[in-house]
Amino acid sequence: MVHGDPMRVLVVEDEWPISDLIGVYLAREGFEVQSCYDGDSGLSAAQIENFDLIILDVGLPKIDGTEICRRLRAANDWTPIVFCTARDDEVDRVLGLELGADDYLTKPFSPRELVARVKAIVRRSAYQVNAGESLEADGVSVNLRTRRASHNGTSLILTATEFDLMAYLMARPGRVIERSELLENVWGYSEALGTRTVDVHIAQIRTKLGPNASIRTVRGVGYSWEAPTHDDA
Ligand code: CA
Repeated sequence: MVHGDPMRVLVVEDEWPISDLIGVYLAREGFEVQSCYDGDSGLSAAQIENFDLIILDVGLPKIDGTEICRRLRAANDWTPIVFCTARDDEVDRVLGLELGADDYLTKPFSPRELVARVKAIVRRSAYQVNAGESLEADGVSVNLRTRRASHNGTSLILTATEFDLMAYLMARPGRVIERSELLENVWGYSEALGTRTVDVHIAQIRTKLGPNASIRTVRGVGYSWEAPTHDDA
């Protein structure tokens, strides 16, 4: 970030060369980086200190990355997390377990790509300038300044990505939005990431909103924010 204190990133990665490379690239962009090389120390650091973002390897000694994420989320810590995965089955674990990951990269990835993802997440996690702006529809309210959301008066616990994705749809009620548009505007990049990421995050939001979630799937196209009708599957 340009203003104030540098953004702090925790990197939990047991492969030293990868960790060093990530650290060098992030430091070059002005981030303050702390590195941990096993799951134990990574979890402790995340619990004790405040970070703006955590880069988390899945395969770690002692406690693996998915377990660290699960424990943080269980303790209501919603610091954005980017997973580093080594294999497809790790991607499946990250996406399938509803861990509240904000993004993931599959090794080998380019440090430049990682930095781009990190910056995109940090940018949209930062409080928006248009303070006080809020959205309300179908019992869901979203405050874009405080980044809090509620559903029928009950707080919704959303990851940064889920919040932004829901707000993006809510701000355009009734419009069918393609997955590529969501990737570009919510995730902040447009290269072929695969649409699975969008689908998984939509599924997570739906789970949190319950059976009457106002998100309609338009097969082969994308999603729209609209109240459900009885003929929806
Ligand atoms: Ca590893």
